[in-house]
Amino acid sequence: VELTIEGVFMQFESEYNVLAPGPVNLHPKVREALALPMIHHRTPEFDKILARVLGKLKEVFKTTQPVYILSSTGSGGMESLIVNTLSPGEKVLCIDSGKFGERWGEIAKAYGADVHFIKTTWGEAVNPSDVENFLKQNPDTKIVLCQACETSTGVLNPIKELGKIIQKSPDTLLLVDGITALGAMNLPMDEWYIDGLVGGSQKAFMLPTGLSFISFSEKAWKKIPQSKCLKFYFDIQKEHKANQNGETYFSSNVTLIRALDAVLELIFEKGLTPLYSEIEKRANFTRKFAQDLGFTLYSKAPSNSVTALQVPDGFDGQKIRLKLEEKFKITIMGGQDQAKGKIIRIGHMGHINWQQMQSLMMNLAATLTELTLSYSPKKPLSQLEQEMKDWCK
Ligand SMILES: *Cc1c(COP(=O)(O)O)cnc(C)c1O
Repeated sequence: VELTIEGVFMQFESEYNVLAPGPVNLHPKVREALALPMIHHRTPEFDKILARVLGKLKEVFKTTQPVYILSSTGSGGMESLIVNTLSPGEKVLCIDSGKFGERWGEIAKAYGADVHFIKTTWGEAVNPSDVENFLKQNPDTKIVLCQACETSTGVLNPIKELGKIIQKSPDTLLLVDGITALGAMNLPMDEWYIDGLVGGSQKAFMLPTGLSFISFSEKAWKKIPQSKCLKFYFDIQKEHKANQNGETYFSSNVTLIRALDAVLELIFEKGLTPLYSEIEKRANFTRKFAQDLGFTLYSKAPSNSVTALQVPDGFDGQKIRLKLEEKFKITIMGGQDQAKGKIIRIGHMGHINWQQMQSLMMNLAATLTELTLSYSPKKPLSQLEQEMKDWCK
């Protein structure tokens, strides 16, 4: 075996196929960028990279406002949106359509907000008129929190509609968790009246874990200087000043930002719309062929970045996921909390080819057969295999 870097990459590629809703498979160019020798973050070379990525991120966010890079996971970005706009005691409406909605409400509570929840049934999106009614009865609401895609259930929430409603209240901000949406589907911050938006590196941005990206609207910027939440690391005003001088306030995450530069180059080579279509096509493929295998769609408003599937009767989603990984080295996710065992979740973000999608389906069928000998898909496997090949052409 030749021990070139290329060779090592290939070997890993043939070993794990990460089709989870984050982390995701890395593009070879991203892995190359991750392997580069270190440079210092206060150098003209890095300054150029930082300026370039901050510029391109604005195009992904579709905003005229600056975008900031935080060395934190997505949850840090969620916290940052809150601590920079909230004052303790203020009323917050948290849309809880799953695990991540619940988490955001908990973060707001930790900072002393008066948090009210609109809980949806898992698998369902929020009804915009419920939010409108809440705001009519509670005009003193300062912040509404919502996931664009709720990763735990595979649900897409109606952000555009929420933006239209909230934009009418001059004193209420819409903060959106776009960690599995921004970069995977159209989520234009300015056009949809989003006041705070967060993306995450290991999800739609196709990088390893460790960066989050945030931006604030003009409306949010009016509130930021008045926000009384305690903060230091996540104080966006410090970062804003540093960015204006072409730097980050704390040490820059040189390695991940260089890899981000590589991702953004790939994204803009392809174009945002073709990228989103590709992800949508993977979602359509998964929805169609998983149903042929006997799964049903869990989400009533399915997102393109992650598909949640209810497992066929008599199966345990956790066992399916574990066996698929152990036997075929394909990583997907199971369900959390009330959906544990009942669903599996398949991610469509990252560097994925059609052969990997077909292999996922065929090996899912093999896994079901291995777990229950009496299992049979709705169509013979040989027919399914041919249909998949034709579908992917
Ligand atoms: C993954 C995820 C998070 C949490 O991100 P971490 O990087 O694990 O902190 C938050 N919201 C959504 C919608 C996610 O998918």
